[in-house]
Amino acid sequence: MKISKPELIRKINRKLVLDVIRKNPLCTKSYISKKLGCSRQTVSIIVSNLNDEGLVLKNGIGESTKEGGKKPALVEFNPKAGYIIGSMLGRSSIGAILTDLNANIIVEKAIPNSIESGHKAIISNMVKLFEEIIKESEIEKKKLLGVGIGVQGIVSPNDGIVVALPHYPDWINIPLVNIIKDELGCEVFIDNENRMRGYGEKWFGLAVNTDDFLTIYAKEGLGAGVFINGKCVMGRNFLSGEIGHIRLDADGPDCVCGNKGCFESLVNVARIRQIFNEKSGLDEFRDSLLVKKFKDNNLEIMIEELFDYFYKGDNLAKLIVDEISYWFGIGISVISSVIDPGLIIIHGPYSFGGDYFKKKVIENAEKNFLLNISKEVNIVYSKLEKKAVLIGSASIVLEKVL
Ligand SMILES: [Zn+2]
Repeated sequence: MKISKPELIRKINRKLVLDVIRKNPLCTKSYISKKLGCSRQTVSIIVSNLNDEGLVLKNGIGESTKEGGKKPALVEFNPKAGYIIGSMLGRSSIGAILTDLNANIIVEKAIPNSIESGHKAIISNMVKLFEEIIKESEIEKKKLLGVGIGVQGIVSPNDGIVVALPHYPDWINIPLVNIIKDELGCEVFIDNENRMRGYGEKWFGLAVNTDDFLTIYAKEGLGAGVFINGKCVMGRNFLSGEIGHIRLDADGPDCVCGNKGCFESLVNVARIRQIFNEKSGLDEFRDSLLVKKFKDNNLEIMIEELFDYFYKGDNLAKLIVDEISYWFGIGISVISSVIDPGLIIIHGPYSFGGDYFKKKVIENAEKNFLLNISKEVNIVYSKLEKKAVLIGSASIVLEKVL
């Protein structure tokens, strides 16, 4: 369907006006028109339409100007105008939240998942889960604006197809969006988990006021969600953000992809355990509490635990944190050279790295730039934590529908 130019302009203006109202509780129409540089009349028409849709409430009377005159009406976003579902298809569980339009969670639920059970059984379980949370929330089904689903693999978001989920035996070119849409009768959107994290940051996280940013998640694997000019970057083959296999060290550790020294293989949890195994027998670490806890005890270090021991002053933990932060910095400098983001948001267990880790990563990234543009590297830890993908999957519905 081709959208005519005036219709497109109307759509863009509507989005912009709604965005200002969402971000500025109780504002006036003249504030909106000043902020956007468009006429009072245009703003009035859009606000009136949004009011008819229930998305904006006229709420109270503001202060009159210094010159006096009629007091202006205040407008406000109505988060109860609709509801959204955000979900995550994980290998061992499927999670979902039902929220209002401000991402306030009304119902949250998770069910176990077995990738061996095949796509038909998994999709049928997803539908059941969505129906259950709609029922429990007691919302009217017609108020559900849509469902967002984050997956761990390659998707073609525009045609709603899951192209491939590694590790899952039979997920090749599955038209997930159409299947779920037919069952639930509402809009459905999919994307990979890293882009969902980005949508979550854009709508409800640290990138609310930033147009150019990326999220980085690292644990076993490593991936990014890339946003430029406020839009999620997909790439021709939907592979944008697959930064884990950029080779940083030709002599580095083996990577699952068959190469050596990929970004992922230099900073993931497997690398932490590898460095630990290489160094834990050395005399200089004989008093290390990390060694006492994890050597010969069949326990595997988690990233959060590494930082716990580091901040307790453990010398082996420091060696590992220093090495990981070195490669993290190099990786970030490479990506920053390409897209120059205003903000880099770390997700997952590395968001527990604290001030030292962040400082080291920034230092190492800045050292690797050819020019002295170090002040540009701005790294923060996500505050969305474990719900990042769920919140992001709910946010993609707002991105597409509002
Ligand atoms: Zn690799």
